[in-house]
Amino acid sequence: MTILQVESPRFTKSDLAKYPFLKQTAEFIKPLNLQIDDLPRMGLDQILKRAEDRVDEALTNRRINRNMKALDLEILSFPVALLIVIATENSFIKKRYALAEAKQASNDLVLEPKEKVLQIARDFDWRIHINLRETQDSPSEFTVSFTDYLRNSAHLHDKKWKLTNSVLSHGNIYLNKPDTVRLLEEEIRRRVEKRLDVKLQKCPPELAAVAERVKKLASAVIGEIETEELPKIVVQSAYPPCINALFETAKSNHHLSHIERFTLTSFLVNIGMSSETVNELFKTFSDYNERLTRYQIEHIAGERGSATHYTPPQCSLLQTHGVCKNRDDLCRRIYHPLAYYKRKQRLAANSGI
Ligand code: SF4
Repeated sequence: MTILQVESPRFTKSDLAKYPFLKQTAEFIKPLNLQIDDLPRMGLDQILKRAEDRVDEALTNRRINRNMKALDLEILSFPVALLIVIATENSFIKKRYALAEAKQASNDLVLEPKEKVLQIARDFDWRIHINLRETQDSPSEFTVSFTDYLRNSAHLHDKKWKLTNSVLSHGNIYLNKPDTVRLLEEEIRRRVEKRLDVKLQKCPPELAAVAERVKKLASAVIGEIETEELPKIVVQSAYPPCINALFETAKSNHHLSHIERFTLTSFLVNIGMSSETVNELFKTFSDYNERLTRYQIEHIAGERGSATHYTPPQCSLLQTHGVCKNRDDLCRRIYHPLAYYKRKQRLAANSGI
């Protein structure tokens, strides 16, 4: 394998405007000694305005366009946008913002030369190299360490991310540029989410007012998503067989194993059941503990802790753990219980049921 070790040069101001989550952004901002109380002061209101626009764009477009004509403003508005999002104390807004920053970065990165992709991946301490000789045995532009690959592909559902479908050699995976960028997108999203996972010690009224506006916008957007992706009401007849089997087990045994409980809870919160209703379901369980059960449900729903919103495991994993039961015809065409649920509803709607 021939690889090229490239020294990481410093990022330019344009880079920081495009990829403001980089570690070097902090160095750029530090000498300005910006304080949260300074924000509303004359001259900084432009930054606050651009920061609010960033959050609005994230909520409405799931992307954040870069303004490359005002680099300073663009860079400085990123940490302020983070403050606005933190001030909302809303897990949906936090997740949506982190995702939009990651998606925009991914859109831009895929157009960059591979040296830039490598430089940004190294900002995340990836063990990544440019593959100099693209042959049949080593067919791609990059080699990425097995651990960096696994950490970032774990939640990607497409078959191509399965290790069995990857070219692995000496602890490295061969990846083309789009796939490398896709994995970086995951890394960026997590970095931004982590920076949003804090509480503000103080919140000036101007910032609180912006956060309130953002929350109103988010409520409108959440309404749209519910009608767009999943129905507002829970449709029991569309449950996949494994979920029905879990209900049966719960009814007869009054107990579920850890993975069964996780699967059922994450499925129900993802299809729109409230944490309160899920909690009611578990009340008949022999080991019911109100405080613990509420905590677990809210954690899975992304209402606590890291604000990570969990989804049920894929069918392949549920099969391994014996949770997949009574598979039917539709099961053969899907890979995930939520995909089953959506597909079944579409089929019912098309057939007029
Ligand atoms: S194939 Fe998937 S959706 Fe169908 S029963 Fe098994 S786990 Fe559930």
